[in-house]
Amino acid sequence: MKALTVACPHCHARIPQAPGVELKSARCGACGEALFAGQPMHLSTAGFDAHTAEGGLPLLIDFWADWCGPCRSMAPVFESLAAEFEPHVRFAKVDTDAESALATYFRIQTVPTLSLIHHRREVARVSGVLFAGDLRRWIWSALSEAEETATAVS
Ligand SMILES: [Zn+2]
Repeated sequence: MKALTVACPHCHARIPQAPGVELKSARCGACGEALFAGQPMHLSTAGFDAHTAEGGLPLLIDFWADWCGPCRSMAPVFESLAAEFEPHVRFAKVDTDAESALATYFRIQTVPTLSLIHHRREVARVSGVLFAGDLRRWIWSALSEAEETATAVS
């Protein structure tokens, strides 16, 4: 089994984790902040490579915009699911206006759009608002797809 490397949501340092370590309370060896805070991180171009690298956690991105009402109504649900799925999935938010380079790279046509990235590849995507039950089910199915892809590759 390959060692897991967790990218720090604060300084983006990639921190290798020893097997069996209690991830939920792990801290970043570079900046000392908690690696998991039970909430989505704000992802920018600067941290993108670190958080999508091989050997890292599945990364679930919520592409959103400030002017988007549905995005704002989905935000609390996304936040509570972040706490639920950590430390197995990293939840991130991309403000498509502030981070237009990332929005262009992912060819985001509409917000909200959710995308699950694992080992540098997008394994699932959905556009439009999903609330708690549906969102949770979608994440589980995206994760199982991510696992299948990972097994097929290695
Ligand atoms: Zn750090």
